[in-house]
Amino acid sequence: MIIKTKALVVKESIVGESDKYITLFTKDLGKIQAIAPKSKKYDNSLASGTQLFVYGEFMLTAYKDTYRLMNVEIINMFHELRNDLTVLSYASYILEFVAEVAQVEQGGPDNETLLSLTLMTLHSLVKNKHPLKLIRCIFELRALSILGFMPELKQCVECSRPLREDPENTYIFVYESGGLVCESCIPYHQKHSDISFSTLYTMKHITHTPIKQLFSFQVNATILNELESVCNLYSRFHIEKSFKTLDFIKQIED
Ligand SMILES: [Zn+2]
Repeated sequence: MIIKTKALVVKESIVGESDKYITLFTKDLGKIQAIAPKSKKYDNSLASGTQLFVYGEFMLTAYKDTYRLMNVEIINMFHELRNDLTVLSYASYILEFVAEVAQVEQGGPDNETLLSLTLMTLHSLVKNKHPLKLIRCIFELRALSILGFMPELKQCVECSRPLREDPENTYIFVYESGGLVCESCIPYHQKHSDISFSTLYTMKHITHTPIKQLFSFQVNATILNELESVCNLYSRFHIEKSFKTLDFIKQIED
């Protein structure tokens, strides 16, 4: 049976002299492994179509407990990402993140939305009009929301008391609880961050605006710092993997 699906190459590894394994984040099947034969009877399009960041229409056949790649029609290679080491590192982190969280062989609306978000994020990194840290925060917070960890930002997550919208207010975000808590519900033992009204407003925007419009706003340095701190900790709380690319980004930015 031949399967045709749009997909992004999120991981590649060479096995032996002739074959290459790639991990595809597909529109219809979630995350799958595919073997890409490198033998001479296949032309070079398979070699270029199986590089990291390639987005295209993949034609596959089921092969043992994996898939065998027949053909790729490349839609976008995102080659501009390779022009700048820092941009490339952020883009590699995005791939490492989705390769970790995408569900194996599971399509569906959430899978499609996560793929759209990933592609929009890569486009935004190519355009390079926003601070890279902001792009990462937008991606992480929205990805976590799609994955079922939408933070509660309207009412106290513990007692359901609505939280008044007031630009003078400071809000308390508790990672373990998954959202804001009111002053009488602050847990003693759990880690929390204070965030300003503007940061809260930005988080609401990131979690609810249509994905196509996600990368069309700027924030000041104070908001970016607060946002970064919340996204970092919230993301690490839900996704326990330690990402090699993040360590590298830290090294080059310090
Ligand atoms: Zn409360």
